Amino acid sequence: MQCPICGAPAKHLAENADGLAVDCPRCGAYLVTDSCLNALLRRELEERAQALATARRLAGPDEVPTISSIAPRPWWERLWRRR
Ligand SMILES: [Zn+2]
Repeated sequence: MQCPICGAPAKHLAENADGLAVDCPRCGAYLVTDSCLNALLRRELEERAQALATARRLAGPDEVPTISSIAPRPWWERLWRRR
């Protein structure tokens, strides 16, 4: 599979009701919740990397970072990009 964050070939560790576990050579191991994955794939690379960075900050030292929410786009960006 491809890493949903950076697109590099990554190991798909598990997929369950909670989401998808990925082990990526670039991003490391992390989890993405199901509801987040779809939203994540529609975002720019920079925003996806940002979501992972946030998950890493929130995770404890022995925890796998979990991407469970994505910051909403700023209003000016929504206007500007018109998606
Ligand atoms: Zn990656």
